[in-house]
Amino acid sequence: RAKDAGRNAIQLFRTTMQQAASARLQLESELRLALQRNEFELYLQPQVDARSARVIGAEVLLRWHHPVDGVRSPAQFIDVLEESGLIVEVGNWVIREACRIAASLLVDGVVDSDSFSLCVNISPRQFRQSDFVERVLEALKAVSLPHAMIKLEITEGIVIQNLDDTIAKMRRLCRQGVSFAMDDFGTGYSSLTYLKRLPVDVLKIDQSFVRDALDDPNDAEIIRAIVAMARSLRLEVIAEGVEQQAQLELLQAQGCHLYQGYLFSRPIPPADFGELLKTHSLS
Ligand code: C2E
Ligand code: MG
Ligand code: MG
Ligand code: MG
Repeated sequence: RAKDAGRNAIQLFRTTMQQAASARLQLESELRLALQRNEFELYLQPQVDARSARVIGAEVLLRWHHPVDGVRSPAQFIDVLEESGLIVEVGNWVIREACRIAASLLVDGVVDSDSFSLCVNISPRQFRQSDFVERVLEALKAVSLPHAMIKLEITEGIVIQNLDDTIAKMRRLCRQGVSFAMDDFGTGYSSLTYLKRLPVDVLKIDQSFVRDALDDPNDAEIIRAIVAMARSLRLEVIAEGVEQQAQLELLQAQGCHLYQGYLFSRPIPPADFGELLKTHSLS
């Protein structure tokens, strides 16, 4: 009987694994189709300077407009894009499209090229491509975009895989005026040693710290430490996931004045973002 139970458990485990694997394959082929059918789109989430209430930039966030399920967010598919390698093609599209959006905001006169930038998320696999630097420069050139209008968000995961190659690529882009932000800061290794070596301009405080900072003194302390680190390395610091006024006040009390979060705006389609800037600059 115990043997039967064991056998049943193994069988159940196998079935579950098989189902998970086939769901993954199914998702992968849907994503391939989505790419062909242009079902991906980009939303923009404003980044704000709390001192002036000015919008200083926006993060570009991938969305999949699924014909049946509606808008799907990257949490549901980004891992599959990465593991299947599809992220390279999708990521290149994201960069081109982000440059196109930035150029049209510029043409519409709602942003200024030296006080506004779009932040684009870069995946590890995409960054590791040997032609990554060329792809970025081509996308900028295609729409004659001032290079400083694009900031690339990388994660600690990218850095630890191959520090020398990472630094070499970042330097090449930096020399061309493209800048970098370290995303989800505080969740990985967050080592001062590599941070000092990387040409990064901005640290993004991960939203998990912001979410719990009001209730958990440890998270508030981590925020304090990140702001101090940013200051000593002369980096900018921006907080993610700010939903409440009290969170913003805590951040500002610790010297972090730049933020993005639902408190100001959710990620929105580029057309709505343009509208938001128009009404915002009038108020
Ligand atoms: P991320 O780069 O850390 O992006 C911030 C995430 O926080 C976004 O989720 C955004 O919608 C969400 N967020 C912003 N403000 C708030 C808030 O106040 N409260 C809460 N609860 N969430 C907030 P999203 O758009 O679902 O993206 C999730 C992740 O997917 C991103 O995290 C990024 O790692 C990845 N991702 C998104 N777009 C791209 C892309 O184009 N390429 C790559 N490689 N990754 C992407
Ligand atoms: Mg990001
Ligand atoms: Mg982040
Ligand atoms: Mg994240």
